[in-house]
Amino acid sequence: MLKALGGLLVAGTTASTQAIAKQSKREVALDYLANDDLLDNDELERILQQLERRYSDRVSVMEIGRSNQDRPIYAVSIGASSNKQCLKTTDVMAIGQQHGDEMISSAEGLLSVAQHLASKQGQTKKLLEEVTVHIVPRVNPDGFVARQRYNVDTDAPARGEGDDIFGGDAGFYTADDAGIGWDINRYHWFDWTESNLYNNLPDEYPENPVPEARAVLSATEEIDPEWIVDYHRQGTYTTDPDVTFDPENPGEAYERGTYPPDPDASGAGDIVTSSLFWPINDGVSEEAQDLSKQIVSVMYNELTEFEQSTISRYPGGTYAGIARNGYGLAGYGSVLYELSTGTLGDREFRMQQVFTSLLAAIRATATGSLYEINPESVSQLPERETNGFTIEE
Ligand SMILES: [Zn+2]
Repeated sequence: MLKALGGLLVAGTTASTQAIAKQSKREVALDYLANDDLLDNDELERILQQLERRYSDRVSVMEIGRSNQDRPIYAVSIGASSNKQCLKTTDVMAIGQQHGDEMISSAEGLLSVAQHLASKQGQTKKLLEEVTVHIVPRVNPDGFVARQRYNVDTDAPARGEGDDIFGGDAGFYTADDAGIGWDINRYHWFDWTESNLYNNLPDEYPENPVPEARAVLSATEEIDPEWIVDYHRQGTYTTDPDVTFDPENPGEAYERGTYPPDPDASGAGDIVTSSLFWPINDGVSEEAQDLSKQIVSVMYNELTEFEQSTISRYPGGTYAGIARNGYGLAGYGSVLYELSTGTLGDREFRMQQVFTSLLAAIRATATGSLYEINPESVSQLPERETNGFTIEE
């Protein structure tokens, strides 16, 4: 349980958490998270409702759909009060926690952005005259309760069921066992008839079977944002200075280290604190891809100001149903943001990265500086290792 829902903003209990809360208060507004508790679904709902009540002229909360177990999926929108005078603003969007077991990171970080934008009206007024921000802090409320990556669906088949012996993929991105759930982040298809699953099994799956993905798709269609950032959490990795990204062969261009490692190697490396990536599916327009790269660059530049922050490119692939590619294919700027767990990835630091990265993108959009950036400056991002070895033959 959060210890402070009554006033929304009462600090945690111990001296050390109070110190942390105080230190970050100026920027991050994380007071209500200054303890070790998870942010459960009821608390998330109450925080959103409180935000809406307290800042009713600029915050609105909407249920964008229901999860498979019928839990509400919420979006919170923060805009200028002057929106009522029909100011035309640019809509931008961020979503978090598609994977239910990626805990203590994106949902809380995104809430801190919502709260900052809503409450610091003096400082953010100008921003919100240009940009309206839509946030879906937790796409997968069922998986959060189940502590699992997937949504919860007892009808979901097992991964690989229906695949043929020639390596044909039926399109089941599900758990290894049947009856667990679907990986929401493989089902962002605006046109379901283009999906692998539909093409293989049109009679069994005439519709997208993943309600959480459908909810985000329809919200995105409705909002029609300039861009959308999808926040996740990855494991512990280091940068790989020996590898360069080959844009001609995206998704497969990672040189693996060899095994066994060189007896003289020291094992040096920097721990990656976040990895970012843009859409690389062939069908993504250059315009959408460039905009995505510009967002990545803005975030990268802002985050590298942080002490102890190492930002890398995320080694992702071309699959069209992943949000990063799916929203890119639809013409939106689209960015994957993977926070790291691990040594430097403590809770507050992770949330700070969400807060800082998203606000940087929002500011750059509001001022227009986003569009001045050379998209190719993403080549500054170092590669992240994949932890994959090639056995020496
Ligand atoms: Zn994830």
